[in-house]
Amino acid sequence: MKAIVKNAAAPNGLEMQDRPTPEINGYEVLIKIKKTAICGTDVHIYNWDEWAQKTIKTPQVIGHEFVGTVMEVGKHVSHLTAGQLVSGEGHIVCGTCRHCITGAPHLCRKTVGIGVNIDGVFSEYIAIPAGNVWVCDPAIPEDILSIQDPLGNAVHTALAFPVAGEDVIVTGAGPIGLMSIPILRRTGARNVVVTDINPRRLDMAMQMGATATVNVREQTVAQFLEKNATRLRLKEGFDVGLEMSGSPAAFAEMINAMANGGKIALLGILPSAAQANWNTVVFNSLTIKGIYGREMYDTWYKMSALLQSGLDKKVAPIITHRFPYTQFAEAFQTAASGEAGKVVLDWE
Ligand code: NAD
Ligand code: ZN
Repeated sequence: MKAIVKNAAAPNGLEMQDRPTPEINGYEVLIKIKKTAICGTDVHIYNWDEWAQKTIKTPQVIGHEFVGTVMEVGKHVSHLTAGQLVSGEGHIVCGTCRHCITGAPHLCRKTVGIGVNIDGVFSEYIAIPAGNVWVCDPAIPEDILSIQDPLGNAVHTALAFPVAGEDVIVTGAGPIGLMSIPILRRTGARNVVVTDINPRRLDMAMQMGATATVNVREQTVAQFLEKNATRLRLKEGFDVGLEMSGSPAAFAEMINAMANGGKIALLGILPSAAQANWNTVVFNSLTIKGIYGREMYDTWYKMSALLQSGLDKKVAPIITHRFPYTQFAEAFQTAASGEAGKVVLDWE
């Protein structure tokens, strides 16, 4: 089978290789890939940044966002059958630790990442544990089903705190920040103010339903609030903040823009040296919650319900590019340019 492999421990370093079709054990499922999507993580691997150099052992098949069809199920798997349309959770958990056995496997410390620690899904076939398979509704477009991993990040973060009637700031209008907007609107946020430094992405934020955007290259959030708080009926700042940029500047500004008692969900991966005014966190009684991955499988369940009630149409504009898998080089260049939304590869 064909697979996209990170072959060289260097920037780019991707090539198409022939790999043996995987064999499944009794607890696994063989899936024929229909569509995959390129994640920021794949772009880190492509760029071969510090994190990728520490984490990835070349040669390795990459990718973890997919939709496909079940071809074969292991002999101990009774709840899945050939022909089902499926996606899957990219984090394989140990199943035996304290969190795994008490119903919170997303907190497992022994998580193994598909396409990061082991071979990924950018190939014609994959074998994954049956417990990681998520059965999809065929009424939802396959493109959308292929991006459930990052959409799940957006759902997990946007639902971290109740937002009904609240004013929300989202820092970072990357794919995940953008997808959080319709979720926040749908779950009742009054204002969703989105910040970024890229005008194209801020335009997309308005298209996805933001009530206002702030280009933080042109003005600070504090300056924006000075001018717009009355119009937006914001009295003391934001009730809920979703940090989705990974930028220390954005996080620091968010802390200053929160109402007292405000709640921050932190998805963006900050450099360890990121600074913030911690005394503002203390004196203004802020809550900061770290968000990693998706809750298994609460996030997937809620995401499916949201998709079935119209979220699929709302997030559709996030997919800006589609390529056949053979044009992976162009697809990666597009994804790495920072100008694209989600880039989807077609494997059929
Ligand atoms: P992305 O890198 O495509 O988007 C980040 C956006 O932030 C970009 O549009 C960028 O222009 C913008 N930005 C940069 N500086 C900014 C600033 N000062 N203020 C506001 N915006 C600024 O990322 P993505 O794929 O949407 O992911 C968002 C973040 O979440 C990234 O940091 C990513 O690493 C992280 N992430 C975390 C998890 C998790 O499980 N915690 C999972 C996936 C991604
Ligand atoms: Zn575990």
